[in-house]
Amino acid sequence: MLKIENLHVRVAGRDILKGLSLDVDAGEVHAIMGPNGAGKSTLGHVLAGREGYEIVEGSVTYLGRDLLALEPEERAAEGVFLAFQYPVEIAGVNNTYFLRAALNAQRRHRGEPELDSMQFLKLVRQTLSVLHLKDELLHRGVNEGFSGGEKKRNEIFQLAVLEPKLAILDETDSGLDIDALKAVAHGVNTLRSPERAFLVITHYQRLLDYIRPDVVHVLADGRIVESGGPELALELEAHGYEWIRQRIEPGA
Ligand code: ADP
Ligand code: MG
Ligand code: MG
Repeated sequence: MLKIENLHVRVAGRDILKGLSLDVDAGEVHAIMGPNGAGKSTLGHVLAGREGYEIVEGSVTYLGRDLLALEPEERAAEGVFLAFQYPVEIAGVNNTYFLRAALNAQRRHRGEPELDSMQFLKLVRQTLSVLHLKDELLHRGVNEGFSGGEKKRNEIFQLAVLEPKLAILDETDSGLDIDALKAVAHGVNTLRSPERAFLVITHYQRLLDYIRPDVVHVLADGRIVESGGPELALELEAHGYEWIRQRIEPGA
């Protein structure tokens, strides 16, 4: 589904990704862990097509197409979802209204009929019930005054409504409470399917207590320096990132 080869990315004149390669198949959940500043969020932003990232070298193939050649809206319509793609608060714009606009924009792109408000409401109700979410976020402004946990629940809700093929979740480095982590994990576990892949970016191992990834990667200094099974996350938790650094730079 996703093949990243030797990706080099520069941000504000600095090399941030330095030869990153990664292969993700449909149906898989990959966790990307790594120290602060390693380039994890940069990777997510580059895949989503955010502005300000200069691709210096390398390629990204998504479902057989050159992902980097697509506009952000095309990527979204083709099924790439980055949670926190809409981190902004939009005061006064109703969250549900905003999500319907996003979904219909994607459907138009794909040549599918738009959902009217009744159809959308039905979809929203089903989604809330499947995810065990309350409807309290629906009537608020987009991200307006949302706590960290509420933003995360809202992301999972957006993900479930938009039904992406490649979902990228970037866990903020700041602490989420256990209930929010569990809500995110429940969402990911519920939405796992043979047609859908997840990239779960996380600084801490905690989230992986609730989501069992197929593959765990360590991103350090702009590259994937180690990949393994779920046990790699536990080793990292036990030994810290310094352990990885010493393994990749003997003598450091
Ligand atoms: P991570 O998510 O792994 O903590 P990031 O991808 O957010 O790391 O950042 C990687 C590095 O790139 C950091 O040193 C950060 O300061 C730098 N960086 C990220 N975005 C920008 C930007 N817009 N302008 C300047 N530097 C940036
Ligand atoms: Mg960070
Ligand atoms: Mg980050």
